[in-house]
Amino acid sequence: MKITTHTPWSTQDATNLYGIQNWGSPYFTVGDNGNVNIVAPAINGGQSAQVAFVDVIKGLRERGLEMPVQLRIENLLDHRISCLNNAFAHSIKALNYQNYYRGVFPIKVNQQHHVIEEISHFGSRYNHGLEAGSKAELIIALSHITDNDAYIICNGYKDSEFIDLGLHAIKLGVKCFFVVETPSELPIIIARSRKLDVKPLLGVRLKLASKVDGHWSDDSGDRSIFGLNTMQLMTLIEQLNDANMLDCLQLLHFHLGSQLPNIRNIRSGMLEACRYYIELTQEGVPLKYLDLGGGLAVDYDGSQSNSTHSKNYSLDEYCTDIVESIIEALDPEGIPHPVIITESGRATVAYSSVLLFNILDVSHFDPQPLPEVLTDGIHELIHHLWGVVALINTESIKDHRLQEHYNDAIYYRDEIRELFRRGQISLRDRALGENIFLNAMHRIVNLLPTLERIPAELEHLGEELADIYYGNFSVFQSLPDAWAIDQIFPVMPIHRLNEAPTREAIIADLTCDCDGKIDHFIGQDGVRNTLPVHSLRPNEDYYLGVFLVGAYQETLGDLHNLFGDTNVANIRINQDNSFDVVTELEGDSIADVLSYVEYQPNTLKRRFRDIAEKAVKAGKITIAERRQILNDFSASLQGYTYYEE
Ligand code: PLP
Repeated sequence: MKITTHTPWSTQDATNLYGIQNWGSPYFTVGDNGNVNIVAPAINGGQSAQVAFVDVIKGLRERGLEMPVQLRIENLLDHRISCLNNAFAHSIKALNYQNYYRGVFPIKVNQQHHVIEEISHFGSRYNHGLEAGSKAELIIALSHITDNDAYIICNGYKDSEFIDLGLHAIKLGVKCFFVVETPSELPIIIARSRKLDVKPLLGVRLKLASKVDGHWSDDSGDRSIFGLNTMQLMTLIEQLNDANMLDCLQLLHFHLGSQLPNIRNIRSGMLEACRYYIELTQEGVPLKYLDLGGGLAVDYDGSQSNSTHSKNYSLDEYCTDIVESIIEALDPEGIPHPVIITESGRATVAYSSVLLFNILDVSHFDPQPLPEVLTDGIHELIHHLWGVVALINTESIKDHRLQEHYNDAIYYRDEIRELFRRGQISLRDRALGENIFLNAMHRIVNLLPTLERIPAELEHLGEELADIYYGNFSVFQSLPDAWAIDQIFPVMPIHRLNEAPTREAIIADLTCDCDGKIDHFIGQDGVRNTLPVHSLRPNEDYYLGVFLVGAYQETLGDLHNLFGDTNVANIRINQDNSFDVVTELEGDSIADVLSYVEYQPNTLKRRFRDIAEKAVKAGKITIAERRQILNDFSASLQGYTYYEE
């Protein structure tokens, strides 16, 4: 749908329209030339630098990496790790806290090899460790953490193989903690550590009663899936005492949930956890570490509120509240301050990945011009509908009759459709009627801004007329949370922002699935159902970016319609505003995705060759055509699963 934006248009208007300074600062800005830039902030005395997405896309295409691309920006990951560690260090110093902070990155949030390599590399400055929730993740952690001052925290169900791996690590000098999540784990840990003659480092996960706001609210409190309740905790202590292993229990763990939007929930969770810490210490448990799990939220919608997609606190406030809560609780009891551990996943990696794709096509819902007169023989219902359109003007606002005209237009449109079903109206007349109806709707929508109060039924009329922009990507593969849990990610054009956008659109993906679309966007004043975009120009690509997608999306994506992993590029922005493509990974080929669902590409080729051979025998194709067809079939198997130029 066409929109009118105010003139003259500036890039500041674009910045405001898409709210980029709210959700993207300091990493994404709109340059004076209308391009969105990636800003690599200065780290530890360096200099900040920036590159435009369009330049990155050009560089990637020159290297043969086509859209869609998952772009990972090393500098942003580096900066997030620094911010987290520096913010804790700052609060610890400012509040005279008598211990230190250690972060661990939960591998499940983004297990991709390059991401984990970067985290271990950038994190080594701060002894940042890894959290593993399965044997596979522990194997990743063990082969990436070379620093004996960094921690590995093992959560999740643990069988004896898992435990043996961790015990071997302890023998090698790695600080590898087993967090007991269920009562059944302890006997296995005791048995294996005796067998291997290694003293384990143990933690226990608490099931806190504190409830939290946000998407995972129902999973918090007494009904949370993991963790020990108070009775189970007391039994665990007895079992450890009996096994003469109470000295192994050094870490207290809790996880209130992911994406915690409300700092007050974090404070009350801390209070409860500190109470446990005090009580257990007084029971003789030699606790030294307090692990708060994840939960540090990302402000996806930029509203700085306690809404599900936001957070009502800054990183500094988060760290200060945690440090302060411990001091306030433990100091009166004379209990030494523990090492503070957090398992921040989302807040560490979300910013560093952006999904980039091009728009392939557009469906408009614009009417054609109204006929001046209706010819004889046109059904009278169409005449009535035509009459309604003529009444929709500024006068209808004065008379408060806009809703009435809307009702009439709907009535006549539906009657025309009914007569078409019964064979009483031709296809040509129905098309005429639909066009007159669309004219009526557009006229109404154009008048809505002049109304003092918009009738409820008309509020979303504009959205029903929005264009559909078809993007070269799959929601299910690249943005699974947008589909599964209605997660809102910032989406916007990454160029042409010095031009006013002229269309309102929703974005559809390549899958033939009604859910394969994005129809919630972040704007200046919160969430909106359409995105302002520019008209496509002939022979020119139009690119959109989906931002803040580094957490969970790459891992949870699926093969709906057999769209596979996208191409991936990891870039590093240099201080002279150039960039290096550190690694490029081609996405899945068609043969790859077919093999994931148990097809053997060679068998498919053989079957297709038999079909082609029969066609030759039947005289349908020549031998030369057969060769061409089989070559094309083989080439397709090696091709990208997305739309290729
Ligand atoms: N730690 C544990 C035990 C978790 O279950 C999770 C995710 O839910 C995390 C850490 C990471 O949470 P977030 O991504 O919110 O930081």
